[in-house]
Order: sequence, then structure tokens, then C-alpha cells
Amino acid sequence: MTARLPGDEISLWLATTAETNYPPLTADGDTFDVAIVGGGISGILTAWMYQKEGLKTALVEKDHIIANTTGNTTAKLTSQHNLVYHYLIDKHGKQIAKAFGQANQRAIEDIDALAQSLGIDCDFEPADAHVYTQESERLQSIENEVKAAKSLGLPASFTKTTDLPFSAAGAIKFTDQAQFHPRKFLLGVAADYIATGGVIYEQTEALDISPARPSILKTKNGELKAESIIVASKYPFWRKETFDKATWVKLSYALGVVLREDRYPRGMYISAEEPVRTIRSHPYNKGRILIFGG
Ligand SMILES: Cc1cc2nc3c(=O)[nH]c(=O)nc-3n(C[C@H](O)[C@H](O)[C@H](O)COP(=O)(O)OP(=O)(O)OC[C@H]3O[C@@H](n4cnc5c(N)ncnc54)[C@H](O)[C@@H]3O)c2cc1C
Repeated sequence: MTARLPGDEISLWLATTAETNYPPLTADGDTFDVAIVGGGISGILTAWMYQKEGLKTALVEKDHIIANTTGNTTAKLTSQHNLVYHYLIDKHGKQIAKAFGQANQRAIEDIDALAQSLGIDCDFEPADAHVYTQESERLQSIENEVKAAKSLGLPASFTKTTDLPFSAAGAIKFTDQAQFHPRKFLLGVAADYIATGGVIYEQTEALDISPARPSILKTKNGELKAESIIVASKYPFWRKETFDKATWVKLSYALGVVLREDRYPRGMYISAEEPVRTIRSHPYNKGRILIFGG
């Protein structure tokens, strides 16, 4: 398909893949083992996994799948989440911090394995992930994080060398990380989900859940029944009064820029300091494109 870049206010992922057009729910629907609300990475992979287990599942999306947060992410696959491990060990202990790190590390391998097993070309590239700082006063917190991450068996080290076009005082580097094209990956997973009998309803906004056996998922277009309902809508639609207090909206911007020469960083970067800067590059039109935002 023809990419709608350059100049459009659209993510690289949405601009370089076809739009989806799964049918909406048109009347009260079937009864399912599991109904999953939300067609981002959480909902699609959950639906796919349950369907593979032999359950009868439906995925309900108010808009189009992979068009919300997951369609606008920077799509770094990494167990590195800013300077989180020092904090996690401090707050929750080593065992929980380790489980979190291992689950994140395992997810990278799982995505690669799933893409390969389904034959999905999703521009999966191994890349090192870095949290960098330009402020020497922050080096101690970076070094503390290296120590914490290493103690959990994560592939962390301290470095002053990056392939950024500006100098960094230092960075924590995680090897064995990756980056990918989230829509190419998830469109392939969704196609396999449909092929194995899964059902996707787009343009079907979930409004409420009546817990029962089976539970009822009320949508703008009708009702579905399911033994279990999984909410993967990111923004909660159910028990809003409870969740509203714990959620807030955050907006960030990213640009995709084609450089005159190949000076694209191959590593993935995020700044330790505010305002947060996130940087990486991605294959684009036989060359690459620089993605940076914050
Ligand atoms: C700018 C940016 C950069 C990021 N970079 C990274 C990164 O590099 N690496 C990383 O791991 N994470 C990154 N993240 C975070 C990551 O993108 C998100 O955590 C992830 O995409 C969330 O996926 P999700 O499926 O939970 O939510 P979403 O992708 O938001 O999916 C939820 C879906 O639910 C639908 N929905 C909502 N309400 C209803 C309803 N009532 N009924 C039916 N459907 C509903 C929405 O339309 C949406 O499609 C980034 C996020 C942003 C914003």
C-alpha cells in the first residue's frame, strides 16, 4: 500500500499498513467462553491465546483495532522501563522485581517466536535499549540502576558510548532487546485469530458489564454473553467511578524524520530526565526513519 507519509499527522505504523474493517456487532450476539474488550496489543494477544486454547472468544473494539495507543507507540520491546528496578527492589523486594524483569524479557522472546511461527514480517530487529542522561548529577542513579538490574540477572551494563548525535554523560544499556512494527505484527496475529474461529467486532463500544453466569457485556450495538469478560480497553468503561480516580490522560508527541545521510541510531533510547526524550530508528522505504518524541 502507499504510505501516507510524509507530512501527515499519523503514526508510521498506521501509515504503512492497511486499515481494518471487521464488522460491528449488529444485534444481540452469541454466547462466548471469553469476551475481550479492547483491540490493542493486550486485547488481541489475550484473545488469540484463549482462542488457541480451544475456547470460543470474541474481541470487542469501539473503534478499529490497533489504532489507539498500540497504533501510536514507539514500539520498543524491552524489559528496561526507565530506572524502575532499583525502585521495585526497594518497594516490593527482589523476588517481585525479578519476576517483573523476567516476564518482560520473556515477552520479547515470545513476540519474536510468535511472529516467526505465524510467518509475520513485522520488522523485528534486535537492538540495545538505553536510559541515558546528559546530567552528571544523575550518573549515580544510573549506576544504582545498573547494579539493581544486574542483581536480578538482567542484561544491564553502564556505558558512556551511544550512537546518539549528541553526547550523553552516561547510560544504562540493556542488550538482548528489540523493536518491531506493532501493526504488522498484530494484524498478522488478528488474521490468525480469525482463521482459528475468533470473532472481532469493530465499532462496537462496550458500555457496561453485568456479572453473572454467563456475564453480560452491554455494548452500544447490543449485548454479548460470556463466561468471562476481560477488560483490555486501557481506559476503563466499567466501574468508571472507581477507576476514574486512578486514571488521567497524558499526551505526548513523536516525529518521524528521514535524514539526508544514514546517521540513524541503531540503539533505542529514552532520557532519564524530564522532559522525556525517546529516540529510535526504523526501516522505511529501503532506508530508515528516525522516530523521536517526548
Ligand atoms: C507515545 C507512546 C510511546 C510508547 N512507547 C512504548 C514503547 O516503546 N514500548 C512499550 O512497551 N510501550 C510503549 N508505550 C506503551 C504501550 O504503547 C501501551 O502500553 C500499549 O500499547 C497499550 O496497549 P493496550 O492494548 O493495553 O491499550 P490500547 O492500545 O489503548 O488498546 C485499548 C483498546 O481498547 C479500545 N477501547 C477503549 N474503550 C473501549 C470500550 N468501551 N469498548 C470497546 N473498546 C474500547 C480502544 O479503542 C483501544 O483500541 C508507549 C505509549 C505511548 C503513548
